[in-house]
Amino acid sequence: MTLRRLLSSLLLVLFGLVVIQQLHGCAAPAPVLEAEAPERTLVLVSLDGFRHDYLDRDVDAPTLRWVAEGVRADRLVPVFPTKTFPNHYSLVTGLHPERHGIVGNSMRDPERLEGGEPARFSLGNRDAVTDGRWWSGEPIWVTAERQGVSTATIFWPGSESEIGGLRPTTWLVYDGEMPYLDRVDTALEAVDGGAGFVTLYFEAVDDAGHRYGPDAPQVAEAIARVDDSLEALVDGLRDRGRLRDVDIVVVSDHGMTPVSRDDVVFFDDALDPEDYDVDWGEVPGVWPRADQDADAIVAALDALPHVRAFRKEDVPARLRYRDNVRIPPVVVLLDEGWTLTSRDYFERRTDRPSGGTHGFDNQYRSMSGIFLARGPRFRSGLEVDSLQTVDVYGIMTAALGLEAAPNDGDATAPTRVLR
Ligand code: AMP
Ligand code: ZN
Ligand code: ZN
Repeated sequence: MTLRRLLSSLLLVLFGLVVIQQLHGCAAPAPVLEAEAPERTLVLVSLDGFRHDYLDRDVDAPTLRWVAEGVRADRLVPVFPTKTFPNHYSLVTGLHPERHGIVGNSMRDPERLEGGEPARFSLGNRDAVTDGRWWSGEPIWVTAERQGVSTATIFWPGSESEIGGLRPTTWLVYDGEMPYLDRVDTALEAVDGGAGFVTLYFEAVDDAGHRYGPDAPQVAEAIARVDDSLEALVDGLRDRGRLRDVDIVVVSDHGMTPVSRDDVVFFDDALDPEDYDVDWGEVPGVWPRADQDADAIVAALDALPHVRAFRKEDVPARLRYRDNVRIPPVVVLLDEGWTLTSRDYFERRTDRPSGGTHGFDNQYRSMSGIFLARGPRFRSGLEVDSLQTVDVYGIMTAALGLEAAPNDGDATAPTRVLR
């Protein structure tokens, strides 16, 4: 495949040279050689926080339903933790977080010190997101660029960093304020420019889910808005005569579940929060100090209602959340929708928790996302049970005719969904 692509590029160049040489001596203007369109093009669209069942509701989403006429998975089972960065990076690498290194939206690396403290990573930390040392594995844009296919990421976690010495041909610094239609136009320009793999990202559905909860009318409004943006993409491809040869894959990174101030457990009921180094959130972690015993911390926290605590090496194997130094030594799993907090923080933040959130065990159905795909490489009218987020890399590389890097996806997934 790669060889064929290389040969055809070489032939095109040779042909160009011959034409130019032949024309050199005469007065006729040199013909303009059209840029070679890639044999295959795939656009990957992420709708952050789009829960697997939102499309079963009476929502205004004609374009999503049109894409779903190709392949629709009943649900896309995310990786743990069911957060944006770990899942987006698993979508494009086919690896679980313990292997690709993005084990949370925020994390620390105890093996890399900065000013005597463990290096820290968070979504808004530009130094971190652009630092390739955080990002392991091979994202699909690197796989593609290595094999001569140009790529464009109109936002994607990891795309702002050099990884394995490569970046997408076109990439943008994340800007949540960039109008959705501008994102679509930029993606269409990339398609015009010959990109074989293009991403798009829209956050509105996740934002509404967090703020108002998954069942709120604002979520339906956000779905209509992202559907409009998707329609602009499809219309743009149609206007260019490209709709028949471009594959469109629409995914989400995780789902959403309601939270409330009634469903709160206090850390203080087990241990004094002042004495412990805690990562708060949907998947709390504790970093025991030198004089603290991890087993004692596990025992104390595990006694709390709606809480299961583990030493990291005992985290259930199915979560694939053990083998990375960035995972805290004590990992806490909360029942769906529950919050672990300190009394002090709870009393100061009278507006929290409210609305919705995600991050919980990936086996909860509420944490599942969507997988829809339509285009020449995908089957038509196919409904499959469930796919895993780590399957998507293998599916996309197969659709693009690329040789995939080693990954955690099910090797049979591509044959199930592709023609
Ligand atoms: P989460 O709560 O885990 O779903 O995180 C969602 C948030 O991640 C979005 O609302 C964005 O603000 C942020 N986000 C998404 N993509 C990026 C990116 N490529 N770079 C930085 N932040 C991002
Ligand atoms: Zn997300
Ligand atoms: Zn979110």
